[in-house]
Amino acid sequence: MIEDYPRNVIELEDRFATEEACREYLAQLRWPRGFVCNRCGATEVWKATRGRLVCRVCRYQASVTAGTIFQNTHKPLRLWFRAIWHITSQKNGASAASLQQILGLGSYQTAWTWLHKLRRVMVRPGRDRLHGRVEVDETYVGSEDGDTDGRQMENKVLVAIATEEDGRGIGRIRMARIPNATKDVLQRFTQEVIEPGSIVHTDGLASYRGLETPGYQHEVSVLQGQEKDAALRLLPRVHRVASLLKRWLLGTHQGAVSPQHLDYYLDEFTFRFNRRKSRSRGKLFYRLVQQAVQVGPVPYRDLVGGKDASSDDHKM
Ligand SMILES: [Zn+2]
Repeated sequence: MIEDYPRNVIELEDRFATEEACREYLAQLRWPRGFVCNRCGATEVWKATRGRLVCRVCRYQASVTAGTIFQNTHKPLRLWFRAIWHITSQKNGASAASLQQILGLGSYQTAWTWLHKLRRVMVRPGRDRLHGRVEVDETYVGSEDGDTDGRQMENKVLVAIATEEDGRGIGRIRMARIPNATKDVLQRFTQEVIEPGSIVHTDGLASYRGLETPGYQHEVSVLQGQEKDAALRLLPRVHRVASLLKRWLLGTHQGAVSPQHLDYYLDEFTFRFNRRKSRSRGKLFYRLVQQAVQVGPVPYRDLVGGKDASSDDHKM
């Protein structure tokens, strides 16, 4: 399928001037080989009002937004499309406050919810795993300005990071919030994000021992001496990604990310990072709309609870 997307904001405005045009675009991305009835498999439909589709054979009613993040939205799709454009056209992403302002939304909560729904679809389920030579390490993300009485540690969250080596540079990345750095957790992360047969490059942490069992080649680099930047030189790509992530959380989001929502921010960072060389911002728009119609809807309460509602709600 030819990737079809607006090249600039003028093309966006011209092309998606009506709800019908937005729905046509969603339908094209959701059913690239044409509509197929969920119930009877027929491919002939009537178009009914408000974007509903009616199967000519069994009269089953479908809608291009049902089962997607746009389901039951009370706002025009035109506004959603502009939100997606705004988010994908900003190099560092958007904050809820800037989205609210750009779209003229009455409520901050709407902007916040939309951003989180869109973050949810930034990482596709069943995405490809990394392969080749991959660095893996874990790092703390969080506030540096906590008290000395131990609160600082509560604000910190452990994040596992995997980065493909691409010559001297970085290929694709994956990251996940993890509860601890035990063998069980780190090996599960490795298997979720890296293809067996790959070379996994880690430091000497015992938790990484035994990666040969699930089929990896394990390369271990051990710290020599006490230099502060030794870790940086051992696994330079993971450390570059970690510092970019921390800077992004502090910059675009002013550090106002609570640990329970960190997963979504990691997904957004990964989405942006893995497409950083894309010459066209329109292509990111295309990709995000495409993923938005392929992933189920997210009720507000799920967003508020995060992926793990039991975690603390400290700001970080
Ligand atoms: Zn049917």
